[in-house]
Amino acid sequence: RSSRIKNSVKDAWRKRFIQENDNSFELDAAILMHPRVWEASGHVGGFSDPLVDCKECKTRHRADHLIEGFTSDVIPDTMTDEEMINYIRENNIPCPKCGKSNYTDIREFNLMFETHRGVIKDDKSVVYLRPENAQGEYVNFLNVQRTMRAKVPFGIGQIGKAFRNEITPGNFTFRTIEFEQMEHQLFCKPGTDLEIYEHYKEYAKKFFIDLGLPEEKLRFHDHDKLVFYASAACDIEYKYPFGYGELNGTHDRTDYDLSQHQKFSGKAQDYLDPETNEKYIPYVVESTVGCDRLVLALLCEAYEEQTLEDGSTREVMHFKPFIAPYKVAVLPLVKKFHSEKANEVYRELSKYFMCTYDESGNIGKRYRREDVIGTPYCITIDDETLNNNTVTIRDRDTMEQITLSLDEVKDYIKEKIEF
Ligand code: ATP
Repeated sequence: RSSRIKNSVKDAWRKRFIQENDNSFELDAAILMHPRVWEASGHVGGFSDPLVDCKECKTRHRADHLIEGFTSDVIPDTMTDEEMINYIRENNIPCPKCGKSNYTDIREFNLMFETHRGVIKDDKSVVYLRPENAQGEYVNFLNVQRTMRAKVPFGIGQIGKAFRNEITPGNFTFRTIEFEQMEHQLFCKPGTDLEIYEHYKEYAKKFFIDLGLPEEKLRFHDHDKLVFYASAACDIEYKYPFGYGELNGTHDRTDYDLSQHQKFSGKAQDYLDPETNEKYIPYVVESTVGCDRLVLALLCEAYEEQTLEDGSTREVMHFKPFIAPYKVAVLPLVKKFHSEKANEVYRELSKYFMCTYDESGNIGKRYRREDVIGTPYCITIDDETLNNNTVTIRDRDTMEQITLSLDEVKDYIKEKIEF
């Protein structure tokens, strides 16, 4: 079921960032690319986390996370490694495991997973599992631009796995070592980038709200310290039960990445503007979303333990219908009399939507089973269906039922589950 939720989230992203977004193209780039790609991007030299070991209980921690958990008076992103460890020692920040405060110095730990290509395992055969999707879009920028005859501004988007050797994975799927990103890179004329950057910040926020995250639990977090090549960067954070966490990043990456790939590959990355005849390396505005983090936010938001008017309780997932793993449950009222017709309806509706079928237990229990997995509509097949070709459709949230003729059901559901 969770893979269905994920697929629905990906479909929604694809619709919003590719299909409805003028001039945007989807890509499926390689996970293992030439190692020079990661030298050019700076990941080999600098994609690392600041780690400290607790000398007492031998557990390993991220120095920036220790400080963030202790105070909001300072921002670790703006501190050097030396400043961070001094701060930790001066304030006796306790180890989350043993409570003592006795740490090693900070070591930078590269987050990229390595493997080897070919039969000989040596330094020359090292390849990396991609730690982000973006570089795949950058190294394919000219392929896409030429084959699609694209004119700036245009976008390349990609949904795919990324891998990071996170030292402190946790909070369920918030931080894992293998996760999926949904990334969109907008290639534009230098000078137009900041306006586009502002647009994508809002565009991503609206996407989250439309998926069902309340605006009051979302906040922008502008970066105080920018990497040297970026001219603006902002995260959108969602208020998870364990605190605010990053869902998305919008970054104005200037022409840095394409210039680096030009330098390392020796291949010009220029774009020839057909209107002005100017040649330039486009600027890039990135909007990146962690699919797993978004699914986790939607799960947290959807869950409710509800007390009903009669004092009974039910667990319900209030997913927007297009997110729900099943759109429809088909339920014969009495197995003996109604299952044949119900099967027929189930098979017909399954041509159009993800449906589920349940004939075991009383109808109340079956409704509850659907509530807890968030099925928005339950269709009950009873004598009325056999005699008059009508069914009742129960709404998950209001629990109200309406009666429809069988031939109206498909269009009724179709309209309700659109994103
Ligand atoms: P964090 O600061 O939380 O480590 P990040 O700034 O390194 O995240 P980015 O490099 O901007 O993250 O990655 C883009 C998106 O990928 C993030 O906004 C997040 O949603 C997702 N993401 C990053 N790391 C992980 C992870 N380890 N597990 C799940 N999702 C992740």
